[in-house]
Amino acid sequence: MISNDLLEILACPIGKAPLKLEGDKLVCTSCGAKYRIEDDIPIMLIEEAELPEGISSPDELQCAEGA
Ligand SMILES: [Zn+2]
Repeated sequence: MISNDLLEILACPIGKAPLKLEGDKLVCTSCGAKYRIEDDIPIMLIEEAELPEGISSPDELQCAEGA
């Protein structure tokens, strides 16, 4: 389980937007990319992220536009 303290320091690796916990994944509140959690360790890699519907490349994410 991810603690609130950890959740607070984690951010989207692209746009540094805050994340929220959704089921067993962390979801970026800005671009919607989903990061899975393995053995209580969030995998904060854009290459490993689950992209939102309609997005085929990380470059198209909302977070990437401000980065
Ligand atoms: Zn993001």
